[in-house]
Amino acid sequence: MLKILFSLLFITSINLNAKTILVTGGCGFIGSNLCHNLIKEGDEVICVDSLVCSSIQNIAPLINNPNFYFIQADICDELTLDFEIDEIYNLACPASPVTYQVDPIQTLRTSFVGVENLLKLAKKHNAKFLQSSTSEIYGDPLVHPQTEIYWGNVNPIGPRACYDEGKRVAETLIFAYHKQYDLDVKVVRIFNTYGPNMNPKDGRVVPNFITQALSGNRLTIYGDGSQTRSFCYVDDLIQGLKLMMASKKGYTGPVNLGNPKEITISEFAHAVCSLTSSPGYIKKPLPQDDPTRRKPDMSLFRK
Ligand code: UDP
Repeated sequence: MLKILFSLLFITSINLNAKTILVTGGCGFIGSNLCHNLIKEGDEVICVDSLVCSSIQNIAPLINNPNFYFIQADICDELTLDFEIDEIYNLACPASPVTYQVDPIQTLRTSFVGVENLLKLAKKHNAKFLQSSTSEIYGDPLVHPQTEIYWGNVNPIGPRACYDEGKRVAETLIFAYHKQYDLDVKVVRIFNTYGPNMNPKDGRVVPNFITQALSGNRLTIYGDGSQTRSFCYVDDLIQGLKLMMASKKGYTGPVNLGNPKEITISEFAHAVCSLTSSPGYIKKPLPQDDPTRRKPDMSLFRK
């Protein structure tokens, strides 16, 4: 067991409401956007990331900020902090189907061993804990749009299972900590999100289509393109995460977070082509267990 001990002297913040916030997966797409936002608000941020599928470049502008600390570590290893933290946002997990399938065992460990390490840390520090769960909880959904009370339709041994089932068991573990230890937990089910700091090569449809179009290549539509997704801009998502974190103790979720505007992948491809000089698209086989429809029911979040 690797133990990482940090002793940091914090500079007293001028912002009296400033919190000390741990962001795990802080160099990834959503994590880095969150770090930038929290620092802008005057909070102290400890960013932890293994850098296995993320980039230090995403937080490069923050490195010299006195309120920002970066620790390179894997959440599957125990993390010890010898100063107080108020909140933990867990965004540490590969999220693109291509990336999370590279090492399925590690993806599962991240969602169980890693999440348990963070829950222990939250318990020790009496910190609020927010989990970035996912619409993949619903698998290939038989209920549309997806409401939080729908239990999902997931293939437990398919290629996406390491992520889907990992995130499902993470929710189970988080609620077990809430029930057994009265931990202040929040679970947000994030739907497809896009924006700055996405890895252009992570295989997801937004960076794929944009990089293909800008390099003059044809877009790759998987299957017949009739499958749907609903894309949320990252700034809106960050606002939602922060609102959820600010909710009172006992408000646990799970709650959906995303854009309820649904679009087919074909429509999306046409939109990208019309804005660029892309020569069109080619069809490729649909990956196994690719969800046919996805759109969040946002009533609970709005409420
Ligand atoms: N997709 C596609 N072309 C690509 C990449 C993805 O048609 O180059 C499709 C994929 O099959 C899925 C949708 O776009 O139906 C969204 O895929 P993505 O990998 O972005 O995320 P998912 O929502 O499946 O986790």
